[in-house]
Parts: sequence; C-alpha cells; structure tokens
Amino acid sequence: MSRVLIVDQQRRPLMPCTPARARLLLKQGKAAVLRRFPFILILREARPEAVVQPLRLKIDPGSKVTGLAVLNDASGQVVWAAEVTHRGEEVHKALQKRAAVRRGRRYRHTWYRPARYLNRRRPKGWIPPSLRSRVQNVETWTHRLIRWAPIGGLSYEAVRFDTQALQNPEIEGEEYQHGTLAGLEIKEYLLLKWSHRCSYCQKTDLPLQVEHILPKIRGGSNRVSNLTLACEKCNLKKGKQTAEEFGFPHIQAQAKAPLKDAASVNSTRRLLHERLLQTGLPIEASSGGCTKWNRRQRGIPKKHWLDALGFPRSRPKKRSTKHPFRTGDIVRAVVPAHLNNPGVHVGRMAAKANGAFTITTKQGKVTDIGYRYCTRLQHADGYAYLI
Ligand SMILES: [Zn+2]
Repeated sequence: MSRVLIVDQQRRPLMPCTPARARLLLKQGKAAVLRRFPFILILREARPEAVVQPLRLKIDPGSKVTGLAVLNDASGQVVWAAEVTHRGEEVHKALQKRAAVRRGRRYRHTWYRPARYLNRRRPKGWIPPSLRSRVQNVETWTHRLIRWAPIGGLSYEAVRFDTQALQNPEIEGEEYQHGTLAGLEIKEYLLLKWSHRCSYCQKTDLPLQVEHILPKIRGGSNRVSNLTLACEKCNLKKGKQTAEEFGFPHIQAQAKAPLKDAASVNSTRRLLHERLLQTGLPIEASSGGCTKWNRRQRGIPKKHWLDALGFPRSRPKKRSTKHPFRTGDIVRAVVPAHLNNPGVHVGRMAAKANGAFTITTKQGKVTDIGYRYCTRLQHADGYAYLI
C-alpha cells in the first residue's frame, strides 16, 4: 500500500515507487508533481526501455462507495487504494426537484407548449441517472488509473444487492436493515419492485413515499416485506389502517413475493461490465464473498477518499471572466493579517457572485476570500479530495 504512482516524460505509466524514492526523485529534480490529488509524479526524462509488471485494478462497486485498489498480482501486494463516494441520492433529489418545478409550471398553464411527457421514449439500456452516475464514476477512475499505472487487468467484485438480493430478496436479517439494502438501496429496490407506481391508486410520475403495509404505530417493521410505495395522498388516506383494511388485501402478498424483474436489477452491473470491456483489458469477475471489502479492514487513509461532485461526464462550472478560477479548483489562499480570515487556507474553492470565494478546508468552510490571495494547486475535475 501507499506507493506513489509515476509516469515518464512521455506519460507512459511506470511501476509505482515508494514514498522515499519519490521524495528523492523530487529532491534531485528528476521528477515533478503531475497531480497533487491523488499524488502522481512525472519523470523529467523518457524511459522507453523501462520494465513494468502488469498490475491489476480491483473494483468493488457499492451503492454509496466504490473501492479501488491497484494490486501487484505477483506479490499480492496492494500498491495503491482509494475510495470513490457516489452521489446517487443527490442526483435523485436534484432530478426530483427539477421534475417538481416542471410539474408546477405545467399546472400553472403558463407554458405555450403542450406537455410532451407522453411521447418520450427511453433509449434502450436506460438506467436511472442516480445509478448511471455510479457507473460513470467507476468508468472515469478506471480510465484515469490506466493512464497513471501499468494496469494489465481488471477485476471486480459482484455487488451483493445483485447476487444475494436476487436469490433471496426478502432477507430479513440485520445486514439488510443496516447493510447494503439500507437507505437508498431500499427505495431503489422498492421502485423496481413496484414499478415506480403508487401501490394503491396506481398513479405514476409523482413523488412516492415508502409506506408501511402494517403501520409502524401498530408494530409494523421496517423489513422489505412490510414496505411498499404510495403517493402522499394515498399514504395520508390510509393512515393507521393496514393495506387489507384500506381495501387492498393483495398488497401484502405482493410485498412478500420476491422481485421478478431481475434484468433491471442487473442493469447497473451489466452496464458497468460493458463499459469496462471497452478498456480492452481482461476482466475477471470475482464473487463478493471471497474478500470482505471494508473501509476499516482495508485501512485506506482518509486522503485517498475521492468524492464525486458532479456528473463525471459533464463539464466543470464555467470559467469566470473576472478571475482565472473555476468552482471546484483546489487552491491555496494566503490572506494577510489585516483582512477577515487571515492565514493560509488550502481546499476546494467555490466562486460567488460578489467575487469572493468560499474555500472548503479540512477544518471547515472559510468565506470571503479574495481571488488575488489564491493560487491554484489543481484544476477542478468533478471530484472533491480529502486534503
Ligand atoms: Zn396513490
């Protein structure tokens, strides 16, 4: 673990070196810093004859966090590791907000065009944007690591939601309450299971709430088999009644039945596999059981966490006409003593309309930093790094 990734002058990836060697190369002026976050070195000379052992990139895709590890197959050593934090829930929330604005606008009848939502077709292989952003995060980092390290093969762990959930989706253990199916996964699972509809009025295209078939107040559990989706209206109307009392006796039986649409659950994994195939590297898919990937067990230091910020394929925020910075740039600000927030601040900056920056540092946010006190350490690339 904790080798330093290094490329030669022609940007050919070389074998990652030890931190001690990296320091020496920098001190002797033989290498320069290519990137600070994650830390990558570039040699000042080309090394066409350099011998590299192919490394393996191991990907552990999770719903909230994806683990990345570069392994040396020959020695079994973890050379480099990082974790990407996805923003599936944020994507979902942002899109719901947009949908609500558009719905409001339609209902106000201020638009001169008729609603178009009935003549839209989803392209083949469509998956929800929240899931797509995960696949794209993994894809982005796979491509980046291929550029920085001599990766000769990929392997990825099967996601538990796909395998175990498919075999036995109504697992009612601790793991599914607090583990993989917790939070977002439960909602996603329910959306798939109830095909994005209110179970009671069958309406679609409206915000759905997770609903307890036997109400919580009457001892109903949070288990998947006691959950369904309902619109706000139906949820309020049902109140303290059970689904049967509310006039929907079949709902309980349906909730207990396992998810039928296996294809759509697998869509994320299939899409990821397709995208990884495009790298042209051999892929080995291992089962999730053989290695228990866990942040604590992996011992990945915090500085290796990579937080997804935007859609990895979209562009960073526009460059300002007033100053050379862009929201998302990592900057170092040296503020003189007579101003607000004096001192040195290093972190991710966000530009504000009044021209002053907000910098998110390790200690927290500092506001009202003038751009003239900042120097850029790294351009915005759609990810936040724990500095
Ligand atoms: Zn309803």
